[in-house]
Amino acid sequence: MLIDVHAHIGRVVPDRREFMDAASLIVRMDAWGIDIACVLPLSEQPEGAYLECDTEDVLAACGRYPERLVPFCLIDPRYGNRPDADFRPLLNEYKERGCRGVGEVLPKLDFDDPRALNLYRQAGEFEMPVLFDMHDGEWGYGLCDDFGLPKLEHALRACPDTIFIGHGPTFWAEISADVPPAQRSGYPSGPVREGGAVPRLMRRYVNLWADTSAGSGNNALTRDPEFGIAFLDEFQDRLMFGTDSCRRSDVASPYPNVSFFRDVRENRRISGEAADKVAWRNAARLLRIPGR
Ligand SMILES: [Zn+2]
Repeated sequence: MLIDVHAHIGRVVPDRREFMDAASLIVRMDAWGIDIACVLPLSEQPEGAYLECDTEDVLAACGRYPERLVPFCLIDPRYGNRPDADFRPLLNEYKERGCRGVGEVLPKLDFDDPRALNLYRQAGEFEMPVLFDMHDGEWGYGLCDDFGLPKLEHALRACPDTIFIGHGPTFWAEISADVPPAQRSGYPSGPVREGGAVPRLMRRYVNLWADTSAGSGNNALTRDPEFGIAFLDEFQDRLMFGTDSCRRSDVASPYPNVSFFRDVRENRRISGEAADKVAWRNAARLLRIPGR
């Protein structure tokens, strides 16, 4: 059993040929051995994506494949532009319609902007985990933080009832204690130095989870193979497999996140029990997805 907690549909990139409809997503899941995928809207936020991937698109797509696709919903924390905007009616509606989480949240805001904290808090009231993308200030999208992730830590403390699912280059660069300033939104290579913000925050805050998706997640787990396996093992109860593949053409090539996790599982680089947790048990537990 394999659950991808980070999939997208629609026209996520400008090239129309890369449009992912639900049927293409299912074909790709079959090719990669993925049983269930969480589909994350993007386009409620102007920074988020190109076209045709908002919550309604996601709900329609998931409705066609209820056994295979699990919807997330998305709310821009800037709606209403005030730190006490009431998102409860929307969250309530989306939850009733089957959404299991909020994401992918990636407005160009400080991670602990009061409007963002307001959304995180209300998502927690509805037991909806918040999956976020993080980039540095120079990037066009993504929540922002400083070196050491103090703003994420502020949110983890301020919203103890909200589960945060970490993702993105600026989050994963901080697996290491040293982050080259020019690579805060990149893919730092080489050995991981102990003492990084991500392991430190994951040890301290049980409401911090992460997915393994995208180039950033894969880079963090493979740049220092010994460290990556130890990290998977230590946080086996709060890490979830993901892809973040946004292009229809991805199906044609081996996707690094899929190959890496297959290697981890088949070659028993972590225990079978730990691999199952990352593969699907954690996602099934957190998002209340029936197992098989
Ligand atoms: Zn994504």
